[in-house]
Amino acid sequence: MSARGFTTTTLHGDRARPIEHGATHKPVHNSAAFGFADARDLVEVFQGKRPGFVYGRQGTPTTMALEEKITRMERGFQTIAVGSGMAAIAMALFALLRAGDHFVSSRFLFGNTTSLFETFARMGIEVSFVDATEAADVEAALRPETRLVFVETIANPCTQVADLAGIGELCRSRGLVYMVDNTVTSPYLFRPRDVGASLAVNSLTKYIGGHGNAMGGAVTDTGLFDWSRYPNIDDLYRQGDPVVWGAAQIRKKGLRDAGATLSPETAHHLSIGAETLALRMERVCANAQALAEFLAAHPKVAKVYYPGLPGHPQHARAKALFAGNSGILSFELKDGVDCFDVLGKLENVILSTNLGDNRTLAIPVAPTIYFELGPERRASQGIAESLIRLSVGIEDAGDLLADFGRALGD
Ligand code: PLP
Repeated sequence: MSARGFTTTTLHGDRARPIEHGATHKPVHNSAAFGFADARDLVEVFQGKRPGFVYGRQGTPTTMALEEKITRMERGFQTIAVGSGMAAIAMALFALLRAGDHFVSSRFLFGNTTSLFETFARMGIEVSFVDATEAADVEAALRPETRLVFVETIANPCTQVADLAGIGELCRSRGLVYMVDNTVTSPYLFRPRDVGASLAVNSLTKYIGGHGNAMGGAVTDTGLFDWSRYPNIDDLYRQGDPVVWGAAQIRKKGLRDAGATLSPETAHHLSIGAETLALRMERVCANAQALAEFLAAHPKVAKVYYPGLPGHPQHARAKALFAGNSGILSFELKDGVDCFDVLGKLENVILSTNLGDNRTLAIPVAPTIYFELGPERRASQGIAESLIRLSVGIEDAGDLLADFGRALGD
């Protein structure tokens, strides 16, 4: 068959194997456990000697269909789907790191990810936070016990773009696991595999699901990392081709041991959402660009953070790497303009913490998602007290511009 485009592959991939009764969607298999007519078959599946399902905590046909969909989107090797984006990050680190290990992370991170990494530090897994817009800063933080590097593509909320290719080259030459959180870009705009990532993480709650009605997360092994060089793979998972070892350990530790399971109902919602990712992202990018330009020209706005603006420090890098700049856009108001006043006047925007919804969402950053950090650490991360984060949706662009114009008193 000839190579198919992103959306065709996403829509028709499920049918690579026959679906029960010719259903056009993979059905929802709401079963906690799976039975066998012959105990020998149960044993074979249990021991991983042949494919199948034994217990829903470790996966169902419905979660597997979603995993395969994400793998195709990421052009990866294997995906493990779990109950949230945070569960995906936690599960991968929990499976791959041990006490005494060290990892390097971008300091421009989603706040809960920072908090998670600090929890790992309490358990004897040290982390160095660096400015990942420069691969040299990552390199300077490496130690003999460094195992992994973690970055986001477009950082949330200030939209810094990591030196994704430079860090990929560094990790390749040093034999380090390179983990890229692709949530903000989504596999439609960017594939971490293209810059040498070992693992791509996606919060499925965001653009992939798209409708803000289901939570999930996924880790995709891109197939690039040579797990035979990685010291933390247990003997139990050093079976067969090393390309499967990392995913086997992540699946066993994350799903079987930690139980970060995604429910079949939710997997189905996310699969349906994923079908329209490309269409939605095109519209999101166009709306965000229009809004970023409008806000950048507005006299009451002090600063706009959006990689699609020529003044953004990594504008050229974003253009070279991404098929679009996504929908995360943050802005600071000029002194004397009350952010709660502006937010209160928006009619077509929901005041909400989520991102990647079809609806445009807005949140004042400092008193909410960065509240726990306190003013000093906020300042060190460049988070102004008046910063507003938008997750631009797929509304009609004219309505969004009119709304922000009205709210800013035009
Ligand atoms: N990664 C990024 C970049 C995020 O912005 C978020 C949530 O906002 C997550 C991960 C966590 O995803 P979830 O909310 O599905 O746990």
